[in-house]
Amino acid sequence: MDQIKIGKFIAGCRKNKKLTQAQLAEKLNITDRAISKWETGNRMPDSSIMLELCNVLGINVNELLSGEIIKMEDYEKKVEENLIELKKQKEEADKRMLKLEFVIGYTSSITFFILILLASYIQMETWIRIILIAFGFITFVIGMHYCLKIEQTAGYYECSKCHNKYVPEYKSVFLAMHMGRTRYMKCPKCGKKSWNKKVIRK
Ligand SMILES: [Zn+2]
Repeated sequence: MDQIKIGKFIAGCRKNKKLTQAQLAEKLNITDRAISKWETGNRMPDSSIMLELCNVLGINVNELLSGEIIKMEDYEKKVEENLIELKKQKEEADKRMLKLEFVIGYTSSITFFILILLASYIQMETWIRIILIAFGFITFVIGMHYCLKIEQTAGYYECSKCHNKYVPEYKSVFLAMHMGRTRYMKCPKCGKKSWNKKVIRK
């Protein structure tokens, strides 16, 4: 997706509607800095605000994502291109998140381990020992929470029975037995329990 082109397109549509950045920002209930970032191509509008932005500018989401007004005869082709591009971006983002999970998991485990070692082997007052252990434990719990959250939301789990791909609830990920990222969970489609693999592509 060409963010510079989209930015110029947003600026053009805004000027057509005779709105300043500040006026558009006010209509959308956001800061004019956000608008400026879109228009210079530094950022894409959040999906949560896209519809409203399109309404104000008198365009549709597909045109926004293409960065141009689309002629009727090109319409379907453009929709398809944009859907493929969005899918690709989601896959890339999911892959990055899973890498991040790895980093968070290791960092918090190692921190926990080091603090426990320090607390066990170095001479110190008991209350410092307790604080170190508590701090290590909290770091570990928070780290694991983020790891699970990422594992729940990035990509999909594939049922090994019916090959349905789905995003499970946090609770089922939390409670499931697992080997690496493969988890023993109940498939919401066929209802069978099996080892479900993590996959990026739907
Ligand atoms: Zn299934």
